[in-house]
Amino acid sequence: MNDKAIRSIVVAGGGSAGWMAAAALSVALQGTGCQIVLVESEEIGTVGVGEATIPPIQAFNQVLGIDEAAFVRATQGTFKLGIEFVNWWRQGHRYFHPFGRYGDDFGMTPFHQQWLRARAHGDRTPLGAYSLTEAASFLNRFDKPPNDPRSVFATYSYAYHFDAGLYARFLRAHSEARGVTRVEGKIASVEQHGETGFVEALVLADGRRVEGEFFLDCTGFRALLIGETLGVPYDDWTRWLPCDRAIAVPSAKLDAISPYTRSTAHQSGWQWRIPLQHRTGNGHVYCSSFIEDDEAERVLLANLDSAQTGDPRRLRFTTGQRQKAWSHNVVTLGLASGFLEPLESTSLHLVQSGLTKLLSWFPDRDFDPAVAAEYNRQVAREYEAVRDFLVLHYNATDRDDSPFWRACRAMAVPDSLAAKTEMFRTNGRLLEREKDLFHEASWLAVMLGQGISPESYDTLTAAIPATEAAAVLTGMRTVIARTAQAMPGHGDFIQRHCRATPGEIS
Ligand SMILES: Cc1cc2nc3c(=O)[nH]c(=O)nc-3n(C[C@H](O)[C@H](O)[C@H](O)COP(=O)(O)OP(=O)(O)OC[C@H]3O[C@@H](n4cnc5c(N)ncnc54)[C@H](O)[C@@H]3O)c2cc1C
Repeated sequence: MNDKAIRSIVVAGGGSAGWMAAAALSVALQGTGCQIVLVESEEIGTVGVGEATIPPIQAFNQVLGIDEAAFVRATQGTFKLGIEFVNWWRQGHRYFHPFGRYGDDFGMTPFHQQWLRARAHGDRTPLGAYSLTEAASFLNRFDKPPNDPRSVFATYSYAYHFDAGLYARFLRAHSEARGVTRVEGKIASVEQHGETGFVEALVLADGRRVEGEFFLDCTGFRALLIGETLGVPYDDWTRWLPCDRAIAVPSAKLDAISPYTRSTAHQSGWQWRIPLQHRTGNGHVYCSSFIEDDEAERVLLANLDSAQTGDPRRLRFTTGQRQKAWSHNVVTLGLASGFLEPLESTSLHLVQSGLTKLLSWFPDRDFDPAVAAEYNRQVAREYEAVRDFLVLHYNATDRDDSPFWRACRAMAVPDSLAAKTEMFRTNGRLLEREKDLFHEASWLAVMLGQGISPESYDTLTAAIPATEAAAVLTGMRTVIARTAQAMPGHGDFIQRHCRATPGEIS
């Protein structure tokens, strides 16, 4: 072992972020002799509403050596192919943000430019006809893609819906089996070095001390180490992402389990519907300046697709980001590091992505400030990219039927988003920046879905004769429609491969 290697890590907090961190570290540091301890308090509990994810979570599970079917079974999980947005652009309008990509690029020009060209010449085929995940979603179909880069499945991608509480339990079992020690107790104070300010130990309410060399703050909105102890400020992004409260409630499972999340815009926010095997997760995310809590709860309960099965839970948050994710010998992950609201299910991904970066910038006991600075730069850039994508949904709307939507339309968006939108509006080009989590297809789906229509298209599309391009487009959508039809039903797939067995943890 390098004589400067970190010998002990303390993870403060055992929500999804804490257990994701413990699980990843237990794998990455296997055989190094580094001790990993996680401290959590059952009395305080977790937020535990993160139920929808995005495709990179597959890679996370693979790195951890998690068997997919066992994971889906243990978390009452279902598969997710995208998000349906209802009433976002206009009341009564719907569009789909599919995972994966649309069609296939034509030589040097992106696929969507040929689609724009065909549209300019009168072809009214919607872009979604070229997405296998969108086609499968509306047929309630799901299948695992074969590992064949020439197959139409090469354009297909999926994620999961799951019960967040069961996910943390699953990761806990996984971590403990790999040597992570769990300490139950309430952190009462944090001890720091008198001169450097580095954190030295967590002191629990019963007087026990948990010492470490490196600390991960996963204490959720409390941010006990990074905020309360080290005083790293929080940047408030409410001016761009105005929703600040949510009410979550479970309802009965749906007869047909759809392989997608539904997000329905209301007068002062939006409602999620997430189908799990044993229940449906629902929640109303809203802005407290425009609607009272009781009214928000009434709206939520009036818009359930199945019978309510539990009590509503109220949550408060401030959208934004911790100014530094890494300070001294503390790195923060999860809600302690920021929250951008759940519209595109990005929170658990940001935990995963923070961990990936941390492992590639893993410190030794010198804690080189340049390493922390680079980590902070990369994390900040990623949060900003996600923020811009979310703001697009709120700002690019035709809705003017409530004060909330009028305020969203009138907001001054970040310059980075304004530039991206303007470029797309003019010629259909999509600017991709470093650390963009969402790629071309996602921006395309949401820009078009929110009513932004390019005025022209790439002139290089003319390199392929229009009749030839039209024939290729027809071929693509025919293959996609046929492939989606041939896929098994989502419910049947789950029944056959990963039906939940309550209580099973592997
Ligand atoms: C309304 C809403 C909907 C969401 N939906 C999604 C979604 O669909 N997809 C998604 O990816 N994410 C979603 N999220 C985010 C997701 O829930 C969180 O990112 C994720 O659960 C990580 O939370 P966490 O572990 O940081 O915090 P928490 O779950 O709050 O966990 C904090 C931990 O710290 C412990 N702790 C705190 N203080 C102390 C103390 N003094 N002593 C000891 N222990 C302490 C707690 O006991 C707990 O174990 C949503 C969030 C909200 C608010």
